Amino acid sequence: MHELSICQSIIDLLSEQAAIAKFDRVVRVRLEIGCLAGVEPQALMFGFDVSARGTVADGAALEIIDLPAKAWCFDCDRTVDIETRGADCPLCSGGRLRVTGGDELRVKDLEVV
Ligand SMILES: [Zn+2]
Repeated sequence: MHELSICQSIIDLLSEQAAIAKFDRVVRVRLEIGCLAGVEPQALMFGFDVSARGTVADGAALEIIDLPAKAWCFDCDRTVDIETRGADCPLCSGGRLRVTGGDELRVKDLEVV
């Protein structure tokens, strides 16, 4: 399961941060996930609870913030938000788009004690 390895790397990151920033426990993690990242939020939540057991993030709440994908529209000459790869431009309905973002997966911030 892809999500489980993602969770594992998040937990690794949190443990590292705990050592550096000297906190004992993470109570909340906010994750930003681009809508083209191919991550299933439910699976991620579940995987996080399992992976977090016995770590600094044990019992931490995981919040997921969905980010729209970004694409450059050659017709509008600007960046637009899209929801799926291959979508048409929401402004001009044109199809000349180049996807420029949407597969992000990053920790936005943490609440720690
Ligand atoms: Zn357009």
